[in-house]
Amino acid sequence: MKKPFVTKEQIVEITKDFPTPFHIYDEKGIRENARNLYKAFSWNKGFKEYFAVKATPNPYILKILKEEGCGVDCSSLTELMLSECCGFSGSEIMFSSNVTPDEDYLKARELGAYINLDDFTHIEYLDKLCGIPETVCCRYNPGGKFEIANQIMDNPGDAKYGFTHDQIIEGFKLLKQKGAKYFGIHAFLASNTVSNDYYPELARILFTLAVEIKEKSGVEFKFINLSGGVGITYEPGKPENDIFAIGEGVHKAFDEILVPAGMGDVAIFTELGRYMLAPYGHLITTVKHFKHIYKEYVGVDACACNLMRPAMYGAYHHITVLGKENEPCDYKYDVTGGLCENNDKFAIDRMLPKIEIGDILVIHDTGAHGFSMGYNYNGKLRSAEILLKEDGTAQLIRRAETPADYFATFDFSHIVDKYLNK
Ligand SMILES: *Cc1c(COP(=O)(O)O)cnc(C)c1O
Repeated sequence: MKKPFVTKEQIVEITKDFPTPFHIYDEKGIRENARNLYKAFSWNKGFKEYFAVKATPNPYILKILKEEGCGVDCSSLTELMLSECCGFSGSEIMFSSNVTPDEDYLKARELGAYINLDDFTHIEYLDKLCGIPETVCCRYNPGGKFEIANQIMDNPGDAKYGFTHDQIIEGFKLLKQKGAKYFGIHAFLASNTVSNDYYPELARILFTLAVEIKEKSGVEFKFINLSGGVGITYEPGKPENDIFAIGEGVHKAFDEILVPAGMGDVAIFTELGRYMLAPYGHLITTVKHFKHIYKEYVGVDACACNLMRPAMYGAYHHITVLGKENEPCDYKYDVTGGLCENNDKFAIDRMLPKIEIGDILVIHDTGAHGFSMGYNYNGKLRSAEILLKEDGTAQLIRRAETPADYFATFDFSHIVDKYLNK
């Protein structure tokens, strides 16, 4: 069973100030989950989670995570700027980008972030642009298929990221030659994994490679970055990740591979996004219309612009009809938004309780890659974001867009003025 972290009473109260649709985040859940991650990796002295900013780029969320000891993983100039505004600097920032523009590298250097290079050619590129920093990281792509227990998890050979095996060995040699002193290694081989074996398997690959690189090039590794990819269970009743089993699996690989190689002081880093936030966000939307044609449609005030995952990946997001949690799910609906795209459906053939106009729906697990993947297609405006604080009060942490935001990038002020009645 997936239960919302808000009650109907709470949402009705909140909608008096802030109309639907909006994303709401659960501070208590975010903090507890972050603490458990740190507990699961407490065996490693230097452990640090660098939250993937792209998952939920909101300064209030970033500050909560900062208080829980997290850094940030950025991939663009604006994510770096946002992190800077939240007080992150130096070794609290990982910069894992690809096809990187000059101004992004320059900002990362200015902030003293750990730069994670995506490609061999970027060594010269970065050196020419602003010099090689004292600590530098490289991203590895082993190619081929990534399998765990005969199950194909993903296809690194088709992924655009990272250095090949031979490139990364030459890369570390070159970086050392150019004066770098401390090194990190990174790989992201599969996304949204629900398996306690993903991180341990990835760790084995990276630890083994780190030992080989140390032998061949003499570089000293300061950290090994397991990146993101630990997933969550979107569908109710399916197996879930156990972060303590995952932490122990990495611990075992560490003790078997790094400790005997004299590398027991290497710090483990993670760049989790989804695992840190997805379950602690809901998209709240109100039922506005019904349509009875060849199927039964429920039309809501949110659309794929507020949550793209179902339209883009056919992703399942659980839906709860607030106040009807205990009613039987004996009606079959497609739950749709209003985009002029037939894939704008939050659910297809979903069994739900009998729905009425005005019912409020909770779309679950939207805390990561939800709001942040939003867009303005069909002139739809981005929603507000609200934080449900530990004391039970609700705080607006991003206002909803208005038409003025939509027009802000045109030199069109006469129209903006007209609709703002100036
Ligand atoms: C997207 C991304 C992450 C976070 O991925 P999740 O699946 O949200 O854990 C971490 N690191 C890099 C480099 C990424 O691109």
